[in-house]
Amino acid sequence: MGREERPLILVSNDDGIGSAGLQALVESLRGLGEVVVVAPDRERSAAGHSLTLSRPLRVSHIDDGWYGVDGTPTDCITLAVMGLLPRRPHLVAAGINHGSNMGDDVTYSGTVSSAIEATLQGIPAFAISVAGEGELDFQSAARFARRLAEQILRRGLPRNTLLNVNVPNLPPEAIQGVAVTRQGRRVYSETVVRKIDPRGKAYYWIGGTDPAWERPGGTDYEAVSSGWISLTPLHLDLTNYRAIDELKAWGLSLNGGPPA
Ligand code: MN
Repeated sequence: MGREERPLILVSNDDGIGSAGLQALVESLRGLGEVVVVAPDRERSAAGHSLTLSRPLRVSHIDDGWYGVDGTPTDCITLAVMGLLPRRPHLVAAGINHGSNMGDDVTYSGTVSSAIEATLQGIPAFAISVAGEGELDFQSAARFARRLAEQILRRGLPRNTLLNVNVPNLPPEAIQGVAVTRQGRRVYSETVVRKIDPRGKAYYWIGGTDPAWERPGGTDYEAVSSGWISLTPLHLDLTNYRAIDELKAWGLSLNGGPPA
């Protein structure tokens, strides 16, 4: 033990414990340390960073090192770190998500939120996703996850920083390389469908058409759409520092008098 302690790697996702991407990630990390899975027992995509406080959580011990939780991805990380695991993990790996998590979408993503929760608890973490629909090829993402995990275990990560990785849905020989990117921006369009139910009442369904993206250079979206693996460092301080002075200049006060 001590310096030679075997790394403990916690794996989670938001697609559920039965997903093929999770299996591929676990297999890729095998051999780097002890791998334990604590993942939602069903799909919880777009759960964001929600935490279940209104009811108890149940954990099913599915197999050696595999735990299913009837909660969100954030619940999984919290339970794992605060109670289930015998020691603190050295790394949290989330994914491999079925579908991209780029640009503004990271705020909805349960996969990215797993990594956010780990980062809040001071544990190095990354989220990894394959950008595609339907038939997904996890080979490139699995291979890159292992390389990245090796580096993080060796070097650690900058404080309050998690890595968000998006991998094109291509076999390894078709990948152009690895690009360090920034978050792209979606162009919002008609994504809510309004229909009438059999009783004549309106209902709404979010998620109609595919999103369009702005295409400035250096973004996650641009990298992935040109065949590169995108690696975006994210941090948890959402403060817009450039806006602080502008807002101070508004001179806001409660009673409308001159600012203090
Ligand atoms: Mn998902």
